[in-house]
Amino acid sequence: MIKSIGIVGSGQMGTGISHVCALAGLDVRLVDMNADALTHSLAATGANLDRQVSRGKVSAADKDAALKRIQTSTDLAFVKDCDLVIEAATENEAVKKELFRKLSPTLKPSALIATNTSSISITRLAAATDRPAKFIGMHFMNPVPVMQLVEIIRGIATDNATYEAVRELVGRLGKTVAVSEDFPAFIVNRILLPMINESVYTLYEGVGSVESIDTAMKLGANHPMGPLELADFIGLDRSEEHTSELQSRGLISYAVFCLKK
Ligand code: NAD
Repeated sequence: MIKSIGIVGSGQMGTGISHVCALAGLDVRLVDMNADALTHSLAATGANLDRQVSRGKVSAADKDAALKRIQTSTDLAFVKDCDLVIEAATENEAVKKELFRKLSPTLKPSALIATNTSSISITRLAAATDRPAKFIGMHFMNPVPVMQLVEIIRGIATDNATYEAVRELVGRLGKTVAVSEDFPAFIVNRILLPMINESVYTLYEGVGSVESIDTAMKLGANHPMGPLELADFIGLDRSEEHTSELQSRGLISYAVFCLKK
């Protein structure tokens, strides 16, 4: 059973992942090459836990215990004894591959490696490690403490023991798994981004106003948030990062990017 988690990258996602892992009782070792990012991450986790305490979702004692379980370092070797290392670094294939090349030899042979990539091939990233059988995609949704889903994506070599261990862990984090094959953007973003894209075209062509488009999809399709509101919520700057691979495969047009200009 996975008991200790290393997380590499303490940005938006690494912060959320460390929050839910620590709250679930796991020992967390959080690494970032940028010391300021680590400081910011711990402060954000403290503030987010405070909010959960004020809403009665988490007790003050559980919050304190969770914060004590998160240790930080700028040294990649800090995660060497962890049972699972989740990579949540910048969405750039070269950056991630280089990170895996440096990380793999420091880990114990039984350690599993997961990536939180939104769009890069799991099989390609696995090939940059010394253990493709123990490598898997764990795609958390933002904001991690709130969103219930984790997509799990096997690479071509991922073995069943890795898949089962990670699936069991997701259950312990109180989240639900959706299994996706290793296609660009997996399931959620593959379906969501063309919808957001179409909502921008719907606005551009004058079919409806911002308010009409969002109201139509909220009340007409029972979505909790309209697609344009969702685009703002996700952040269009982030969308560019996450959709670069989708774009290159012609699945999404440039409308989202035109909107930014
Ligand atoms: P972010 O830019 O907020 O954080 C990335 C962090 O990684 C930064 O703090 C950076 O200093 C650190 N980093 C980069 N290279 C590193 C290295 N070699 N060693 C150590 N630290 C390094 O990014 P994010 O939004 O948290 O995204 C992280 C990953 O999660 C990406 O793969 C992204 O596609 C994926 N993701 C993001 C979202 C989202 O909505 N933001 C949702 C799901 C998945």
